[in-house]
Amino acid sequence: MKPRRTGKSAEVARALASVHRERREQRARERVVRRARSLGWLDASAFGYRMPSAAALLHDAEWVRETPDHACWRCGVTRVPFEDVAAGCAECRDRVMACGGVPIHGVVRLGRYAPPLSQWVPAIKQRAWRDMGVTLGRELGLQVLDAVATGRIPKPDEVVSVPVHWLRRMLRGIDHARTIADEAARVLGVPCSAALRVPLARRQTGGSREGRLDNRRRFDRGGSPLMVPKGVVLVVDDVRTTGGTMRDAASALAEQGAVGFVMAACAVADPPSRASLRQNVDKF
Ligand SMILES: [Zn+2]
Repeated sequence: MKPRRTGKSAEVARALASVHRERREQRARERVVRRARSLGWLDASAFGYRMPSAAALLHDAEWVRETPDHACWRCGVTRVPFEDVAAGCAECRDRVMACGGVPIHGVVRLGRYAPPLSQWVPAIKQRAWRDMGVTLGRELGLQVLDAVATGRIPKPDEVVSVPVHWLRRMLRGIDHARTIADEAARVLGVPCSAALRVPLARRQTGGSREGRLDNRRRFDRGGSPLMVPKGVVLVVDDVRTTGGTMRDAASALAEQGAVGFVMAACAVADPPSRASLRQNVDKF
């Protein structure tokens, strides 16, 4: 046991001890910050960000999914008030909705790509927000059921999500489209399969013409032959902008034997022509 020091020497010892303690604590704080910075990317991908509860957020924002008559059932763009969309809207009426000879029966969405969906949906992949992915996936499943109830689209037999490259998925820590698709499939009571994947490497030059065309393909068959889709396939992605990604996915599925498609996205971006049309109507 140390002898108890008294008077001035004890005071000096206490002051020194406090200086040492402060330095130790400061170093520990710096270490924590350094570690957080160096592991930030891992933290985001492997452990997820701390994100708010999606259900609470939806409740606070008083958000509800739109009714099917807000959008064109055929192409998914926002319907302008009083527009007759029985045979499609002005954007899609003259277009044949098919992919590789297989019909696209319709497009289902939760809403237009605008706040709050334009803030929530990208955060699913950027911040590995699984909770929001599951919540919006459930809503999307219910929206598909509502659309089926209108009698315009058939009930899907299977759900397939637009695939993400494995490296991207690993770095993000989430397959956002699959998260949404899994929950939508659960609501619909149908299987969700990994029928597609992003090719590991695409050769850009050389080979035959067929080979080059093949190399240009964006998605190919993933997994085992057991995953070949049957019947009407619900193709799920987070956002639909031009529809090109979903069409590429559908083309790959058409070759595998799908007999029809229904496209579903949490949010659909309107083409500029539609946005200006809507603004004109909003003036009235
Ligand atoms: Zn349309």
